[in-house]
Amino acid sequence: MKISVIGTGYVGLVTGTCLAETGNEVVCVDIDKAKVEKMRNGVVPIYEPHLDVLFERNIKANRLRFTTSLEEGLEHGEIIFLALPTPEDEDGSADLSYVLNVSEEIGIKIKNYKVIVDKSTVPVGTSEKVHSVIAKNASCDFDVVSNPEFLREGFAVDDFLKPERIIIGSSSEKATELMKRLYSPFVRSGNPIIVMDEKSAELTKYAANAFLATKITFMNEIANYCEKVGADVDMVRAGIGTDSRIGKRFLFPGIGYGGSCFPKDVKALQKAGKNVNYDFKILNSVIEINSAQKTVLLPKIDNYFKNDLKGKTIAIWGLAFKPETDDIREAPSIDIMEALLQKGTKLQVFDPEAMPNIKKRFGDKLNYSQSMYAALEGADALVICTEWSIFRTPDYGKLKELLKNPVVFDGRNLYNVNDMETEGFTYVSVGRKPVN
Ligand code: NAD
Repeated sequence: MKISVIGTGYVGLVTGTCLAETGNEVVCVDIDKAKVEKMRNGVVPIYEPHLDVLFERNIKANRLRFTTSLEEGLEHGEIIFLALPTPEDEDGSADLSYVLNVSEEIGIKIKNYKVIVDKSTVPVGTSEKVHSVIAKNASCDFDVVSNPEFLREGFAVDDFLKPERIIIGSSSEKATELMKRLYSPFVRSGNPIIVMDEKSAELTKYAANAFLATKITFMNEIANYCEKVGADVDMVRAGIGTDSRIGKRFLFPGIGYGGSCFPKDVKALQKAGKNVNYDFKILNSVIEINSAQKTVLLPKIDNYFKNDLKGKTIAIWGLAFKPETDDIREAPSIDIMEALLQKGTKLQVFDPEAMPNIKKRFGDKLNYSQSMYAALEGADALVICTEWSIFRTPDYGKLKELLKNPVVFDGRNLYNVNDMETEGFTYVSVGRKPVN
């Protein structure tokens, strides 16, 4: 099939590449000239495991190409995916300007039947809006489908190739059949393609993200309470995770959720509720708790240094909002580092992939280290913000040798508390006994 994808970020580029991998001819359109130039030169502009292999293979096979021309994209595709940003607006709602501006252009430029597929995360009613914006100018027939994306950064290729479900929100039989045909190679193992109305499809995505953010936040509250009463959140997690109604996943406490989706999507659903006089009380709490959780280690760090952090050097391991990505949007590391800088500390930071993005934001306010161990040299303490695998089994001897004091503040509970005690560390994590 002939497919076009408008917007080649984490979602668009993965969508385009994976659709090319199943034999479709894909044209990816992006407004960012430098990005398109990079991709034309065979460079993947983001870090996403396994994407490079598929990217290269499909470019070579002439199934995947890149352009800055929307016209070219619209001429090529019978199915046009919108994978455009829907960032948080000033009032917390989703900013639909990218989606609606491109839709307006689509209305002016399409010359024959197209299925316009919204893959961006958008509030209930956006399909209708997109439809009417296109209809204003369109001289041909078209359908609008809502097809929210559930891929996770860091696992995006796998998630796209083997989705647990595909959601198609459509009231057009013709468009639904085309979408089913397009996705059939991805659900051969029997995972469902669930067809529903557009509004329910749009809400499905927000409900999923809000539920997951709530699950994490609930565990963070349990962890905070564990600290007050001397219980161990690891034990509680193991205990409740075995209940199949609860499940083992997404129960790991830490310094809060971040990223380009959960924070903005939870706020957008909260705001969408307000617009129809519905107060999402649970989401109000999730937002408030998560915001506080991001800096939950700070009082503990302050306490260790007797409120005298000025002039101290802190090593930071992990800057991305989660492992296996270079994405730093809303990363808890940012909140912690900003607070530590305010207190006059010097920061030596390391992340396997996210340093260039952090550098763009912090410039020369941070010292960027070449390796995880280099970040420790002469530091007064180590703070861990992201659970990259390489941090999981460090050389404890080296840690003690390089740090001025053997002190670790672990925002992701990477290490066994008893091991750290035996090794002679001061070790502070989330929801577990501190080791002094
Ligand atoms: P992104 O910011 O990584 O990428 C967006 C891309 O769109 C950029 O390359 C940008 O240059 C391009 N763009 C902007 N305006 C354009 C225009 N007028 N024409 C062509 N290209 C244009 O965003 P993303 O993370 O891929 O997210 C896209 C959407 O998917 C959002 O609604 C997001 O909420 C949703 N989503 C994201 C994820 C994720 O893990 N990142 C997962 C599921 C859903």
